[in-house]
Amino acid sequence: MAARLSEDGHSKVTLLEAGKRDTNPWIHIPIGYGKTIVNPDVNWRFETEKGPEIADRPMYWARGRVLGGSSSINGLLYIRGQAADYDQWRQMGNTGWSYEDVLPYFRKAEDQENGSDTYHGSGGPLRVSNLVERNPLCEAFIASGVAAGIPRNDDFNGAGQEGIGYYQLTTRKARRCSAAVAYLRPARARPNLRVETEAVVERILFDGKRAIGCEFRRGGRLIRIRASREVILCAYSIKSPICCFCQVSDLPRN
Ligand SMILES: Cc1cc2nc3c(=O)[nH]c(=O)nc-3n(C[C@H](O)[C@H](O)[C@H](O)COP(=O)(O)OP(=O)(O)OC[C@H]3O[C@@H](n4cnc5c(N)ncnc54)[C@H](O)[C@@H]3O)c2cc1C
Repeated sequence: MAARLSEDGHSKVTLLEAGKRDTNPWIHIPIGYGKTIVNPDVNWRFETEKGPEIADRPMYWARGRVLGGSSSINGLLYIRGQAADYDQWRQMGNTGWSYEDVLPYFRKAEDQENGSDTYHGSGGPLRVSNLVERNPLCEAFIASGVAAGIPRNDDFNGAGQEGIGYYQLTTRKARRCSAAVAYLRPARARPNLRVETEAVVERILFDGKRAIGCEFRRGGRLIRIRASREVILCAYSIKSPICCFCQVSDLPRN
């Protein structure tokens, strides 16, 4: 969002991220999620409450705490939602959310290795690649699924999601293509975009019902930042608030 909002060259955008920059090499090596899934340096490492539904033990919930968020530590699978689910959202009254409505945005975001077609885009920031390694066990698993009558599906982001086959990955040249790599890196040189890491947002500031900025903590310091236009929260469904896109008026430089 920070990259898209600053695209016009004149909207001043500040992105506040609690985590650090994405310099940990394991972020960028796809198999590195085996390391980052427990690394407190890049991961919030949440634990749920215990409860009878989960055998009275806490569950571990990994969440990215680093530039790129969970897209910097996730399993790299590129699978869109079911078309029928988006259509149901639309039927519930959410204009603009049918699959037909959202498909152009999926296509716009995508740089599909196989090129563009009705369902895929090319030239977008998010590289989507085919799985390179074809493990004999996976081949055998797929073959047995097909023999059992499950249709072969070579594109779960195409005409339908039913079937068995290989998924696609958010990688470029065998390296992770996170939101930070795909969107922020190309935008970093823009003078109207500031990316502040290790900035933990503690609260949104209000003037009556209008959000006018937020307060974040860096080290021991509490810093206030004002937004002349808007404050946008994208803290994932677990944590909020997170990112604040603002017109900066009083952010100290260091
Ligand atoms: C281990 C794991 C594996 C996954 N595997 C896949 C997969 O294979 N395919 C797939 O499609 N999806 C996968 N996901 C899910 C996917 O990564 C997330 O759905 C997606 O990244 C969510 O994006 P988001 O922007 O909503 O939130 P996030 O990417 O989580 O971003 C939230 C950001 O907000 C920051 N933040 C939170 N609180 C504050 C605060 N107070 N102040 C400042 N910053 C704050 C966080 O540090 C984080 O960077 C996986 C997720 C995890 C954790």
